[in-house]
Amino acid sequence: MIRFEIPYLPLIKEKNMQRKFLTPVKPAGFEIIFLYPCPFCGRNVPLLAPTEPSMGQCDVCQKQFPLVPVDEKTIMFMKTILDNGRAAIDPDYL
Ligand SMILES: [Zn+2]
Repeated sequence: MIRFEIPYLPLIKEKNMQRKFLTPVKPAGFEIIFLYPCPFCGRNVPLLAPTEPSMGQCDVCQKQFPLVPVDEKTIMFMKTILDNGRAAIDPDYL
């Protein structure tokens, strides 16, 4: 019997040392990242859809600055039309 080894696929070792292929995992949802340009250093700081007025912190220069919030209804709309991400991974999804 010929055994095929595909070393680059993700493998886990179980307690009995048998190898088992992991089935690729589908996303359970998605979030929208917005890029806010830091007024101090110009870095586009990625932030997870701030829906209320708040302060953001630059991950490069560590300084804080106030953020214009995004509309929560717009975020909900995007999640609805993509069925919480399902439509993004399935080309046949309608
Ligand atoms: Zn900065």
